[in-house]
Amino acid sequence: MSPRPHFPALLHGADYNAEQWLAYPEVLHDDLQLMKDAGVNCVSVGIFAWSMLEPEEGVFEFGWLDTLMDSLANEDIHVILATPSGARPAWLSERYPEVRQVDATGRRLPHAGRHNHCRTSPVYREKCGAINRLLASRYATHPALFMWHVSNEYGATPCHCELCYAAFRNWLRKRYGDLERLNHAWWTTFWSHRYRCWEEIRPVDPSIQGLMLDWQRFTSDQTLDFFLAESAPLRELTPKVPITTNFMQPDVGLDYWVFAPHVDVISWDSYPRWHQHGVSDAETAARTAFYHDLHRSYKKQPFMLMESTPSVTNWQGISRPKRPGLHRLASLQAVAHGSNSVQYFQWRQSRGGEEQFHGAVVTHQNTADTRVFREVAALGSTLQRLTDVLETNVEAQVAVIYDFQNEWALRWSQLPQNEAKDYQACCLEHYGALWRQGVATDILCADGELLRYRLVVAPMLYMLREGVAERLEAFVQGGGTLVMTHTTGLVDAGNLAFLGGFPKPLRRTLGLWVEESDALYPGQEGRIEMLSTSSMSGCYISRYVADLLRLETAQPLAHYTCEFYAATPAVTCNAHGAGRAYYLATRLDGRFLNKFYKLLLSDCGIRTFELPEGVSVSVRQGKDKCTVFVMNFNNAPQSVALESLGLEPVEVGPYGVEVATAARQTTSS
Ligand SMILES: [Zn+2]
Repeated sequence: MSPRPHFPALLHGADYNAEQWLAYPEVLHDDLQLMKDAGVNCVSVGIFAWSMLEPEEGVFEFGWLDTLMDSLANEDIHVILATPSGARPAWLSERYPEVRQVDATGRRLPHAGRHNHCRTSPVYREKCGAINRLLASRYATHPALFMWHVSNEYGATPCHCELCYAAFRNWLRKRYGDLERLNHAWWTTFWSHRYRCWEEIRPVDPSIQGLMLDWQRFTSDQTLDFFLAESAPLRELTPKVPITTNFMQPDVGLDYWVFAPHVDVISWDSYPRWHQHGVSDAETAARTAFYHDLHRSYKKQPFMLMESTPSVTNWQGISRPKRPGLHRLASLQAVAHGSNSVQYFQWRQSRGGEEQFHGAVVTHQNTADTRVFREVAALGSTLQRLTDVLETNVEAQVAVIYDFQNEWALRWSQLPQNEAKDYQACCLEHYGALWRQGVATDILCADGELLRYRLVVAPMLYMLREGVAERLEAFVQGGGTLVMTHTTGLVDAGNLAFLGGFPKPLRRTLGLWVEESDALYPGQEGRIEMLSTSSMSGCYISRYVADLLRLETAQPLAHYTCEFYAATPAVTCNAHGAGRAYYLATRLDGRFLNKFYKLLLSDCGIRTFELPEGVSVSVRQGKDKCTVFVMNFNNAPQSVALESLGLEPVEVGPYGVEVATAARQTTSS
């Protein structure tokens, strides 16, 4: 059984790349005192240190790491010790060319950058295993060792070497058994693409959508397989030390839903773009909240914010320093949504290299007398006081389905509407309407367990893998409320279109079928009108897609008011079993979604908050009490009513956050 991490406190710290500073002993000495001043109790060490740990093949130099681990233990600073595979030394690339990836044109890449090794290469796996075994045996009982940090920011950049192709073909053999089944699943008779033998399969043809979808699945699976191989010596030699690897924003080509069960605690690197021109900080906050909720939801356990910047990044087009207060606010936003840590990349700003001007706690100014250091230190004090939060987590009765394989299937598919099939943006629009009302929300994969929720929102669920429609139907029949949208239920797991009216496997649940769909150009607007006289009465703007519906048992709630399909249904509700299933046949904007979810949440008996624009509320529930975070993402003070929590109204300053304790809450209204 995998060990669950025990958090002795909320963790506060950073990547500490001490190997860059071995020629500066005074820096290493000063850093320990500065860490104490900043309230640091945890650092990640050794992430890109391979060339300093094994400067020549088979020649290991652990002395500097021994000294560092001892020094950190003496200061009671926990160490999340990394394996170094994220960047390899040049001798490895030169002596064993197979470790370097091959691009889609067949060119083997030169030694450069990082995160670009072949995940199939037996040599790379052997070399990683060897150094990981040495690290695990050397530090197994070291008092500073708190957790393993395996590699860094795995991504799924595909490698087109023959080793990877052979592994892919084996993966396909397991999935399909024989070529005839594969040819059918990928519909290869179209354009005469049929395969006669496995060796003909090369994943470089985007006109075969099933091929590209499976290549993406394989690449994700092969990355997980590499992680498991890297972790094996750690599991064997330090079975009680938890393992994490830092996930990223969900656009790196990995199916984190498949990956998550194999790590002991989820951690991720969050770099929101605050203070953009033309995008409000409230919008950025809602997006960031979605990502935090996603990372909590992978295991339904508190997660770790493994990396963030205390000030700026240097790899986004433009990155502005966080305005005063925003560092505390953004950090506590992570905690509010379930993080048990706030950590930075990195502790000390590098003198050179790719991230030379990326923000750090200690900057090139080399002093604690900076605004950034003071804000970091103040946050350290705050985190030390929030001990009640450790035994709590976010509890949700609402879930939004966000599914990576669905996103990949949409990406590879060619549809009448290809310019606005941004699945993640659509999920964010629905999530945003819930966030604006202070509703705790879990994120689920399409295969997720639904029955614990009252309301499930599944936007643009284009692909329905086996069992998904059945679970959604059971959820509705059991009394749940389901919201689905246009572009739902078109294809199966292999990307074959369903026959018999979309969304075929959900036709009974939704009580309708889609006869055809209109596509609107970006900027072009359609219009719908509600049929009832409820608080939602009136007209709303529709965009991008308009499904033309044939109702079976569903009831219309709104009609289109323009085009040849004027007066046909645009929003429907189907009573099915003890529950209801709603269908939004077109992409509706925030004004519609805010009102729609307000009514729906009320019908479902889920508590909402009346919040000023740009203010959010998040609650972490404990056994007897809860911690309430009231967060203001405006650069102006706001007054927030909290009667429903039994609390007095609070004034929250510009970019401020107020933390209060209340009795344990039910989330019902
Ligand atoms: Zn390869």
